[in-house]
Amino acid sequence: MTTRMPAGTLFIVATPIGNLADLSPRALETLRSVAAICAEDTRHSGQLLSHFGVDKPLLALHEHNEDALAQRIVSRLLAGESLALVSDAGTPLVSDPGYRVVRAARAAGVKVSPVPGACAAIAALSVAGLPSDRFAFEGFLPAKAAARRERLQRLAGETRTLVFYESSHRIAESLADMRAAFGDDRPAVLARELTKLFETVLDGTLAGLHARVEADDNQRKGEFVVVVQGAGDDAEAQLAEGLRVHAILGQHLPPSTAAKLAAEITGAPRKALYARGGSG
Ligand code: SAM
Repeated sequence: MTTRMPAGTLFIVATPIGNLADLSPRALETLRSVAAICAEDTRHSGQLLSHFGVDKPLLALHEHNEDALAQRIVSRLLAGESLALVSDAGTPLVSDPGYRVVRAARAAGVKVSPVPGACAAIAALSVAGLPSDRFAFEGFLPAKAAARRERLQRLAGETRTLVFYESSHRIAESLADMRAAFGDDRPAVLARELTKLFETVLDGTLAGLHARVEADDNQRKGEFVVVVQGAGDDAEAQLAEGLRVHAILGQHLPPSTAAKLAAEITGAPRKALYARGGSG
């Protein structure tokens, strides 16, 4: 008679987004208890783990090897080992790899358990002072300008608060594109280097924040979360949606026809679409 080992657990462990003191006691206890740790960047996580005196085998988890690694991980879990998965910073799977591993573990009937902690998006939202009852996490915008502008244009009528991740290379460009898509006066918050030495949380309008970032090199350094208030009331959302439809139709039709059709489709005022949408 063969006895089957009970399967292990896959722990999804959040790590700090800057301040090492944000690693929770349970995260540390879990990392100490598992057989091995899957990490996005083994060198980076190795440093964090050695800081906390955790000495465990590390398995490299990249976007391109996730499917292959998932099978190895599932086999080990089914054999009774418990494993942890961490990313470079914050909560794994939030703009980070890991979901294929989690999906494979769940499909194999293995227990997947979260050890929650820091997440830059939630940390930024918690200090932004913008409506937080409904929000949409948009992660990173596309790197290419045309795709980025199109994505933002599609979000212009979104009434939920929007949360974006951004790097120092593109923060100025992205703020400029947000101004163009959402309007200069849209309230927003720029959360930079949260929990780190140069933590800065700036609030104002998109135009004001863009000007600050353009004027001060320091405000372009580090890691950013941009939190943008959603399109205000129904009329504003309707106008934003009208402008979006008008811009698409304007690529194929004369401006007046595009404005008339966009007004019919969305209910936005035709004159405002014509005046603000230009030739589309
Ligand atoms: N999984 C992480 C989390 O839970 O927040 C996010 C990983 S994503 C690859 C990295 C991005 O998160 C950065 O480019 C930046 O937009 C944001 N981020 C991470 N740490 C941050 C911090 N300390 N302050 C502001 N933004 C941060």
